[in-house]
Amino acid sequence: MLAKLPDLPYGYDGLAISISEETMRIHHTKHHQAYVDKLNVALDKLAEKPDDLQELLSNLDDIPENLRQIIRNNGGGHFNHSQFWQVMSSNGGGQPSGDLAKMIDSNFGSFQAFVDCFSESALGLFGSGWVWLMTDGNILTTPNQDNPIMTGQTAPILGLDVWEHAYYLDYQNQRDRYVKSWWNVVNWAEVENRYRFAIIS
Ligand code: MN
Repeated sequence: MLAKLPDLPYGYDGLAISISEETMRIHHTKHHQAYVDKLNVALDKLAEKPDDLQELLSNLDDIPENLRQIIRNNGGGHFNHSQFWQVMSSNGGGQPSGDLAKMIDSNFGSFQAFVDCFSESALGLFGSGWVWLMTDGNILTTPNQDNPIMTGQTAPILGLDVWEHAYYLDYQNQRDRYVKSWWNVVNWAEVENRYRFAIIS
């Protein structure tokens, strides 16, 4: 497996109502690219070459100790960002429908209550990390580039990057303004696809 920086499904200015072109360009071509590059250096040193990143990250204990943390950080960074770009869209925002809407309503009472709860988790997360919506409706946070799959859980269906590099140029210290604006670019159709795939598999 050779990690590769995925193309964005929109232009760098595609999310400009929420995230500036400059932030998107740096986030994708510098931050994400660096995770990819460092992951490839580490993968190259593995005696047994993995063919699936999700499986590799789900079994970190199997990785030799001298490479484990590097792969955790940079493999996690590659995995998390690859999903992050997909769950946003230049035609995003609004609300989910179908089974996902039902799941959210039954867990939170309403879409707005879910948004409030997820946003509160994002604001409450100290330092750098991610906020996740799980298939069962749980909201989790992880530090650094960790992902719930690293602790034996299923892959999240939605994640929000709350590292300062994701918003500092646009919002400086005001993470609350970033999070509030981010809902306008969430690609609910993609999150729904991930939810449907998760519940049938
Ligand atoms: Mn990031």
